Amino acid sequence: MTGCAAQTQARMFAEMAEVDRVVGNDDKMRGDAWRHARVAFDAAAGFGIASEEKIAVADIMAVREMAPHLLEGFQKGLPRVFVQVQNGCDHRCTFCIIPYGRGNSRSVPMGAVVDQVRALLERGHAEIVLTGVDLTSYGADLPGAPKLGLLTKQILRHVPELKRLRISSIDQVEVDRDLLDVIADDERLMPHLHLSLQSGDDLILKRMKRRHSRDDAVQFCAQVRRLRPDIAFGADIIAGFPTETEEMFARSKDLVEACGLTFLHVFPYSPRPGTPAARMPQVSGEVIKQRAKRLRATGEAALQKRLASEIGATRQILIESGTQGRTEHFMPVAIAGETPGAVRTLAITGHDGARLTV
Ligand code: SF4
Repeated sequence: MTGCAAQTQARMFAEMAEVDRVVGNDDKMRGDAWRHARVAFDAAAGFGIASEEKIAVADIMAVREMAPHLLEGFQKGLPRVFVQVQNGCDHRCTFCIIPYGRGNSRSVPMGAVVDQVRALLERGHAEIVLTGVDLTSYGADLPGAPKLGLLTKQILRHVPELKRLRISSIDQVEVDRDLLDVIADDERLMPHLHLSLQSGDDLILKRMKRRHSRDDAVQFCAQVRRLRPDIAFGADIIAGFPTETEEMFARSKDLVEACGLTFLHVFPYSPRPGTPAARMPQVSGEVIKQRAKRLRATGEAALQKRLASEIGATRQILIESGTQGRTEHFMPVAIAGETPGAVRTLAITGHDGARLTV
């Protein structure tokens, strides 16, 4: 048993007779944490081991280094691959259990990331996505504290053969000047950003212990759109956070329009035991469900608007499979008879309600 749940609830899992070993999120990268498990399993046939003997879970908050990424894990020729450059999080949003499972923020040095990207291109991958738990806090633990913007600049400068670089979810208040420069100046950084917005109401944002206001989010989107007018934004929004009134929810809903969001990830709030938000006055389950549904409908309308606006455009489409590709803006495209991994320049002629057509 390993992963974030094993890290945060080790004792509960250790008490289950069918669990042989509970291995922490950092410990899982160490051979001895598993070797001990095998001995215990052979000797005692996996059962009857005292629960505390089963636990190999160190203090994740003490972990300072990131395990090197396992390049070998990728299937050869996969068109899009992920490079995790950062793990953990120093923030403590009141609804989130992630820092307790992943520990504090730590980053992969820039040189190692550049080498990884180069190696992945040599293996035939066409598009690289930089990922992290709190990606925009990249580098604070490294010598000289380089930021995500500098990392993207270094990758694009030192790997000129890279044609498509994408960044996954970001916290927009942490975006630095270099990253804005890259967004404005380098077309190889794909014009699609996924933002961790969570709510459109200032009081809820405070209760969430987020570090931005509604106005910060709106201003950020406007600023980026001035730099790269065709940019597509996605966002995470939570529906039904504790104490959320109908008026507060309405402000989350109209954030979709105010920020010009295209891809909405809606999370109906659910309490994570041990977090401060779990102790706040809760919104009823039925209201949460209804608000999530209404928010998804708003997101769906925004997506339809973008699908329609793409008609007539010419896009660089990365072929993902025998039936689907993705534009630079991450819009899905129904496609047939193309080779996965190729990038084709094609005119968008229509859409089927879910995907663009060519
Ligand atoms: S929501 Fe994101 S920023 Fe906040 S604590 Fe969780 S991982 Fe960190």
